[in-house]
Amino acid sequence: MKLYQLILTKNECYISGRSFAPKGIMVHSTGAPNPNLKRYVGPDDGRLGKNQYSNHWNQARPEGRQICCHAFIGKLADGTVATYQTLPWTMRGWHGAKGPKGSVNDTHLGFEICEDDTRDPVYFRKVFTEAVELCAYLCKMFSLDPMRDGVLIDHAEGYRRGIASNHGDVRHWFPKHGESMDTFRAAVKTAMCGKAPAPAPPKPAPAPAPGEIAHTVKQGDTLWALAVKHLGFGHRWPEIQALNGGIDPRKLRIGMTLKIPKEAKKS
Ligand SMILES: [Zn+2]
Repeated sequence: MKLYQLILTKNECYISGRSFAPKGIMVHSTGAPNPNLKRYVGPDDGRLGKNQYSNHWNQARPEGRQICCHAFIGKLADGTVATYQTLPWTMRGWHGAKGPKGSVNDTHLGFEICEDDTRDPVYFRKVFTEAVELCAYLCKMFSLDPMRDGVLIDHAEGYRRGIASNHGDVRHWFPKHGESMDTFRAAVKTAMCGKAPAPAPPKPAPAPAPGEIAHTVKQGDTLWALAVKHLGFGHRWPEIQALNGGIDPRKLRIGMTLKIPKEAKKS
């Protein structure tokens, strides 16, 4: 998996800043023939390429809608396939809406696979593999069993379970290439058990970049408290999380170094 991060900090979902504990993952695909990450993730970081319409999702309401997911899989400017994390993993996303039995957003992480015309087997295999690795990585991070009923589902399954809006993704795409959500779940399970080492969670870098300060974690520190102290508001804690590779707030350890955004102190 080629995992990068560009948190959609201008999206209303991020700004509303509700945290949640992931109990599952919902797989989506975009339903539009545009495999380029820059369509959804921006602004250009040098890898994505420039979105000339600036209609990516790093704005309050993309296309006037309240939508935001945790990651996208698609093509970089150089044509290779990669994954972009776009929300902190422990922030509640807006990806599956709701059904009569509740909202998948309350329980599941959600990511989108950028569709091409759904016919290219080479592109499909690359994004399928990337999605398997992303789910294996997240299942390990949050101790989720992808084979357990309802844990790893697509949007179409969420609709049938009464917890998501009426969409057919990814059922309209995977079977064209001999896959299904059942084979997907099995592949994730295999990837979790396989001998190949799982991608290590991103480690906080010790040297702060300009505009950041380094903080050594002390007894009693929480991301919330650090956000209150350094950013003025506790609900801005996901900014610290994002700067530290999406670190799990429960896994702060005394003595570890965190990067903190540097804010000009207002007097
Ligand atoms: Zn969907």
